[in-house]
Amino acid sequence: MRDPRYDILFEPMKIGPVTAKNRFYQVPHCNGGGYRDPSAAAAMRGSKAEGGWGVIFTEQTEMHHTSEITPFIELRLWEDKDIPMLRKMSDKMKEHGALSGIQLAYSGVNGPNLYTKEVPMAVSAQPIRTFTNDPVQARALDKTDIKNLRRWFVNAAKRSQNAGFDLICLYGAHGFGIFQHFLSRATNHRTDEYGGSLENRARFVNEVIADMRDAVGDTMGITLRVSLDETIGDLGFSNAEVRDFVEMNRDLPDLWDLAQGTWEDCSGPSRFKDEGAQEQLVRGIHELTDKPIVGVGRFTSPDVMVKMIKSGTLDFIGCARPSIADPFLPKKIDEGRIEDIRECIGCNICVTGDMTMSISRCTQNPTFMEEWRKGWHPERMNTKGPSSNALVIGAGPAGLEATRALAERGYDVALAEAGTVLGGRVARERHLPGLSAWGRVADYREYQISQKSNVESYFDSELDAESILEFGFENVCIATGAKWRRDGVSRQHVVPFPTDAAMPLLTPDDLMDGASPSGHVVIFDDDHYYMGGVMA
Ligand code: SF4
Repeated sequence: MRDPRYDILFEPMKIGPVTAKNRFYQVPHCNGGGYRDPSAAAAMRGSKAEGGWGVIFTEQTEMHHTSEITPFIELRLWEDKDIPMLRKMSDKMKEHGALSGIQLAYSGVNGPNLYTKEVPMAVSAQPIRTFTNDPVQARALDKTDIKNLRRWFVNAAKRSQNAGFDLICLYGAHGFGIFQHFLSRATNHRTDEYGGSLENRARFVNEVIADMRDAVGDTMGITLRVSLDETIGDLGFSNAEVRDFVEMNRDLPDLWDLAQGTWEDCSGPSRFKDEGAQEQLVRGIHELTDKPIVGVGRFTSPDVMVKMIKSGTLDFIGCARPSIADPFLPKKIDEGRIEDIRECIGCNICVTGDMTMSISRCTQNPTFMEEWRKGWHPERMNTKGPSSNALVIGAGPAGLEATRALAERGYDVALAEAGTVLGGRVARERHLPGLSAWGRVADYREYQISQKSNVESYFDSELDAESILEFGFENVCIATGAKWRRDGVSRQHVVPFPTDAAMPLLTPDDLMDGASPSGHVVIFDDDHYYMGGVMA
């Protein structure tokens, strides 16, 4: 049964003409699927619908072919032909009563148009700013272009309606999205009625929302996503100016979707950002508007969520990563199963997947983006095969997950660990600076395993091949992990480094075992993830 303290999270909430069944709001987030793997993306959103979210959004959807962000893989709504693919998405989102939302983006100065080869159009003539380094120049929108752009947004809104969506999010955050480019002095150098004063810079978004209300506003909610601070001081759209903007336009969208900074700022890893890290930037904005607010902050604790609502900071609990790590987060809170929540650890492996234009993946939820192709479900395992038992060797993240999954399927599982604790590398790395949240990988699985009567764990159990065979298990899983190399071979160096034999050479494993270097230290990092920085 649900703890009554969390009842407030399950109140229905209006967003313009539509009503969300609760306050759990999956904000738009990328997933590497997009137009290339729409069935995979649709199934992923469907698992969130089943998990109880009140609002579920797509990722960024390019609304016109004159602005696209190749090589990144997002969604496209360029023409009517794209509607069936998106209808598949909205159908999945709505299967369990959630509102379905589409995020419309016109990328302006962020869209290099490497696919369409169209000359990009931006608020002011500027070189394209994106993650790729191709030297592409955008020309400034003239008045006819602005009229066309308004018309294209209306067309996209009508297509979104035809595709079955309940909500439209206009993207003007993270440096992406033409609305931010108009609002920010950093990207708006115009001297006409669309540039200069804040009122002028806000003209375009006012026009588009008015146009869209005329077209679809009686049936669809229109939300506006802006960053709480562009994080480049007064040169950009600062938090102070965001507040002025909201106050001057208090009823502009049906809901304010408040993201933060650049995409990297908004999705800060747990090493640098705690849960609810944006609270100070959001606090007080509620008093400037009569419309509801959603904000993000890697929320996984229902108590923190309730605090955000009761303090009047937020109306909806916005989640991207927590909804990836546990698509059933709302349902687990609703059913009083807090201990079963698979909390996001803030490692940003999901972000890495998207940035490499591949299907995204999640450290905590191995089923993410495999719901369609592999038929994996975040909460239900396939049924057991004809054999009955399994030996798992190694209690690191992979061994623990294998044990949990096999036990869930009904096998009798023996887990053999050479050491004395569960968690493997995570049990060690959680003690490194800033990485304590990573311990959730072990904690979640340790708890789940502890609830199973068909799992036996054995510590101090280093096994060789002979003893493994002697035990006679029908299935054996080897999950003994990997160690850091000490010879320097990595991405750039394919042969071992020549080193002075007298020079102490330590790996991360040595340091975690307690070795401490003295004197001057050089850290050689050819891994390029977190370990070099954490060691420093
Ligand atoms: Fe992303 Fe890591 Fe959280 Fe999964 S656990 S959603 S990979 S940050």
